[in-house]
Amino acid sequence: MSSVYPRKATPPLIKDTSPIVLPEVENYVSHVLKTTKPLPPVTYNNLLSELNWIAVFVLTLPPAVSFIGAYYTKLRWETALFAVSYYFYTGLGITAGYHRLWAHRSYNAGKFLQYFLAIAGAGALQGPIKWWARGHRAHHRYTDTELDPYNAQEGFWYSHVGWMLLKPRRKPGSADVSDLSKDEVVRWQQKHYPLLVLVMAVAVPTLIPWLWGDARGGYVYAAFVRLCFVQHSTFCVNSLAHWLGQSPFDDKHTPRDHVVTALCTLGEGYHNFHHQFPMDYRNAIRWYQYDPTKWFIWCTKQLGFASHLKTFPDNEVRKGQLTMQLKRLRETQESLVWPSDNNDLPVISWDSYIEQCATRPLVVISGFIHDVASFIEEHPGGAHWIVKYIGKDATTAFFGGVYDHSNAAHNLLAMKRVGVLHGGIRLAVDDKFVSPAQRLKIAKYAELSSSAYSDLEDGEGLLG
Ligand SMILES: [Zn+2]
Ligand SMILES: [Zn+2]
Repeated sequence: MSSVYPRKATPPLIKDTSPIVLPEVENYVSHVLKTTKPLPPVTYNNLLSELNWIAVFVLTLPPAVSFIGAYYTKLRWETALFAVSYYFYTGLGITAGYHRLWAHRSYNAGKFLQYFLAIAGAGALQGPIKWWARGHRAHHRYTDTELDPYNAQEGFWYSHVGWMLLKPRRKPGSADVSDLSKDEVVRWQQKHYPLLVLVMAVAVPTLIPWLWGDARGGYVYAAFVRLCFVQHSTFCVNSLAHWLGQSPFDDKHTPRDHVVTALCTLGEGYHNFHHQFPMDYRNAIRWYQYDPTKWFIWCTKQLGFASHLKTFPDNEVRKGQLTMQLKRLRETQESLVWPSDNNDLPVISWDSYIEQCATRPLVVISGFIHDVASFIEEHPGGAHWIVKYIGKDATTAFFGGVYDHSNAAHNLLAMKRVGVLHGGIRLAVDDKFVSPAQRLKIAKYAELSSSAYSDLEDGEGLLG
């Protein structure tokens, strides 16, 4: 008999076009480090053969031309203004284009915007899009390991320029760039890269100031000085952004948030946020934080050149922030001295308490016995009030009968505990035997007595 239920259609096989086959190992990074050998370390003896001479040329020529040129060439204000504008344009080619569009796919850009950014990025002379994005994806995936091409653990200058000047000791960890291999604009830029560099890095910034008769100033300031700034601005994202500032979202790795880095990098300085939420088109989440790259992308959307600007759910962003805030509060909590609790103190009977009052000033409040010898003279309400309650239960008087003491007074009182009155805490009203500073505490998961997951083994439940 055939089934009354229709057979499920077999889903079409999805062809896996990904070129990367990763070995299934517990930890990919340690597996690669174990199974591959790095090149020998760079020493004075092998330095010349281990230098990446193209990078040496690309990174030393612009500063050399800039210093010599600026010494002999007067800077005109029209050219200065243009050089700064051109710095922003070519810089955005890297930040809004190479980084947020191609490396992270944090928004969609129309063809016009893609060409606009690919051309601008060539003017920053930082290699073609695919090479740049491949390294950057490896940087995010293997942050702070030897498979991170600009591993910040190797030091500030290594992550700034050293990783380019020296031949890498290891191949960067695998990263999928198959989407970029198929991308029309990325392929076009790669094909014409040398010509685009000549035109955008040198010819255009020289020719535009020629319009106001300052081609030489354009060559020096808008081409070469500007190139130095835009290059080192990007390099700061790998060095400064992994070194200066705070970790408000996660402190597992080196990325940091700092306004100074943001000012140097067209808004890429909120790098702790960026490493946590790399697909977010923003680096700065507050309106007042400096992120011109975010503003630029937002404007292109308003003009119809971009769409699908990705943002991470605010709820999840705030969880990261809360975790770090709790971590800092926990450190404060652990740095303070806390009162002894009833498990650490001797249990004393009422008779014994009365007996011991003959030799030292003891007062019972909320079931705890306090030695107030060091405080009698310092009591703001006067010593006589304390003396009056020695050998008595002063709970009611302390909590309003005579004076409703402040939380600070209650916290201080708890530090004077020397014993627990037998049966006293059971009789104490409300939770007054807990000092105010201890009513809200930060506990690690393992310290919580009743785990949120403790019922998981019981019975069957329904997913809500
Ligand atoms: Zn980074
Ligand atoms: Zn990134």
